[in-house]
Amino acid sequence: MRTDELPPEARRWMALAKEAAGKAYAPYSHFHVGAAVALSDGTVLTGNNQENAAFPSGLCAERVALFSAGAVYPDVTVRALALMAVKDGVVQDEISPCGSCRQVLLETERRQRSPITVMLCGRDVVRIVDSAEQLLPVAFNLECSPG
Ligand SMILES: [Zn+2]
Repeated sequence: MRTDELPPEARRWMALAKEAAGKAYAPYSHFHVGAAVALSDGTVLTGNNQENAAFPSGLCAERVALFSAGAVYPDVTVRALALMAVKDGVVQDEISPCGSCRQVLLETERRQRSPITVMLCGRDVVRIVDSAEQLLPVAFNLECSPG
């Protein structure tokens, strides 16, 4: 879908993700990622990638935003997450969450028993995924062991 076809609130989430990307701490990758998490009560929280010289210690934008929402608004449903990357000041083509972020998105979705719309935002085009489940089929799940 073209970004200019998005409803106003979704365009706002996208703009907030872009703004968050501008505040990322990414001195190593120079790949600035922003995420905006829209809650059912209208609140929008943002996150961005936070890198660290000890590489495993950093965290992706999506998890910064989702964990912030979980910490501050644990009982409010996450409706959507908009994701955008900026490199050298240029909005990148749509990016998609890493495996760990997909796992966190999915668990958030299952915990709240309501799907999360994931918006993978490029400059002109956005891919809309209706549920985190679609990003992580056959996911790890403690309640569902094989056999
Ligand atoms: Zn990630």
